[in-house]
Amino acid sequence: MRLTENARKVLEKRYLARDEDGRVCETPEDMFRRVAATVASADKDRLSEKELKKLEEEFYDMMVNLEFLPNSPTLMNAGRPLGQLSACFVLPVEDTMEGIFDSVKNAALIHKSGGGTGFSFSRLRPKGSSVKSTGGVASGPVSFMKVFNAATEAVKQGGTRRGANMGILRVDHPDILEFITCKQNNADITNFNISVAITESFMKAVEQNADYDLIDPRTGKKTGSLNAREVFDLMVNMAWKNGEPGIIFLDRINRDNVTPQLGEIESTNPCGEQPLLPYEACNLGSINLSLMVKRGRDNIMEVDYDKLRETVRKAVRFLDNVIDVNKYPLPEIDEMTRGTRKIGLGVMGWADMLLILGIRYDSEEAEKLADEVMGFISREARRMSQELAEEKGVFPYYDKSVYKEAGIKVRNATTTTIAPTGTLSLIAGTSSGIEPLFAISYIKYVMDGTELVEVNPYFKAACEEAGLYSDELMREIAQKGSLHDVEGIPQHMKELFVTAHDISPEWHVRMQAAFQRHTDNAVSKTVNLRKDATLQDVADVFWHAYKTGCKGVTIYRDGSREEQVLNIGSVK
Ligand code: UDP
Repeated sequence: MRLTENARKVLEKRYLARDEDGRVCETPEDMFRRVAATVASADKDRLSEKELKKLEEEFYDMMVNLEFLPNSPTLMNAGRPLGQLSACFVLPVEDTMEGIFDSVKNAALIHKSGGGTGFSFSRLRPKGSSVKSTGGVASGPVSFMKVFNAATEAVKQGGTRRGANMGILRVDHPDILEFITCKQNNADITNFNISVAITESFMKAVEQNADYDLIDPRTGKKTGSLNAREVFDLMVNMAWKNGEPGIIFLDRINRDNVTPQLGEIESTNPCGEQPLLPYEACNLGSINLSLMVKRGRDNIMEVDYDKLRETVRKAVRFLDNVIDVNKYPLPEIDEMTRGTRKIGLGVMGWADMLLILGIRYDSEEAEKLADEVMGFISREARRMSQELAEEKGVFPYYDKSVYKEAGIKVRNATTTTIAPTGTLSLIAGTSSGIEPLFAISYIKYVMDGTELVEVNPYFKAACEEAGLYSDELMREIAQKGSLHDVEGIPQHMKELFVTAHDISPEWHVRMQAAFQRHTDNAVSKTVNLRKDATLQDVADVFWHAYKTGCKGVTIYRDGSREEQVLNIGSVK
């Protein structure tokens, strides 16, 4: 197998099975074999032994070749005692003591198995309102978030990986100001990402510089009002300060809710890519686009659509099977997740694919290709889900879905999601999700004090071809963070090898919006801003995301927070 040294290290640390003495007792190939056999076994009553083996081989091949990888919990837990295979969950938080602490407990069970949880705290009564049974006063959503946060902290050590949470509050909740500022101190509520759930009427009020009403969720009554623009500016300020809160567009998310009869979507998973109903879980998987290319006519690299189609088809069958072999942490989750059979197929290695094709990330050509490639994946995935419906039946809640009205038979309520692929991309040795490169080269400090210069493989190849490669040059690039001011690099290379900070905020959002147009669920993307970005830049990103149909947006201004909740270094 072609694994980088970093990939091997990550796999050994958390993914490979261990014996009773805690020693690693499988190779990466064994791991993929374990996963392939477990996932194929969903079809054991339908297929002959020979057919089953063939299916297992197909699954094994696409993983071992790093063409497709399922989300981390599937790699870690398939065929092992925990057996919990999903990365994303949403749990309800009811406005009762029992409800709140049930949710804390359920989150702990999910974290133990490597899943992340999202919660909306919007149903909790505001701070200061009365508690009938005790005659006391309620402490409000933010104080309960701290309880969830502490529980996550305590589970962290024993679990398969650090638990992650998303906390959501509606913009019209009376405690919204406290929520927006609750993470302004970097040391607070560190196991949560937070997002404000924004409504269209709120955005209209911002545009008109009008006031909007705050509503007590328990009584449904107006408790006061705020100036929408002031609230918007506060969000912008806080996000500029250290990246939080993010925002999600609740109405838009619910317009894409394919089973409105089952309830309203009120939250997403921790990184925002997967809106779910309460008690729903979703398993994700990502195709490595850097391997979906071939040498075409005149020796020019192009997208290999035949290979991509085959990979999508196998991946959809794989993810659909995961639903059947998955062991769910709660009966309610079992019921909902098997009921809607949502899967989330997405991509990683987008920036690498563009480099291979010689297309600059922030260009109309790249945007057009994003539409083409993701449009293709989405159509093929939907088609495969339709074929699976013929073969194995529609999802159980189909009658309560919009597909029924439309007369389209599908096996999965949703098929596409773009995950961050924080660890998967590291295992596959490619760029993460749809993000641009973060650096062309960087200096890595090894334990014994030596310094290693890590260089993007495509840049390295281009430099070697041009006879430019030298250790000093790579160091200079690592220090400068961009090719912009580096002498001796030809213009055409400067044009192609752009990094997150070379790319304008507007282009970050344009790329997110291009992928969102062809994604059932949502797209995980961080709009990475330079340190000198202004408040206006942040406000523009929020507006632009709103106007271009994104389901939410997250920004991060370079250097504004020392430690991020979900950065790659801290999750291992
Ligand atoms: N996740 C989590 N803890 C982590 C990283 C991820 O719970 O430390 C969950 C979370 O729901 C996130 C999802 O996994 O949104 C997908 O993240 P990513 O694609 O980075 O995971 P990978 O499969 O690459 O490990």
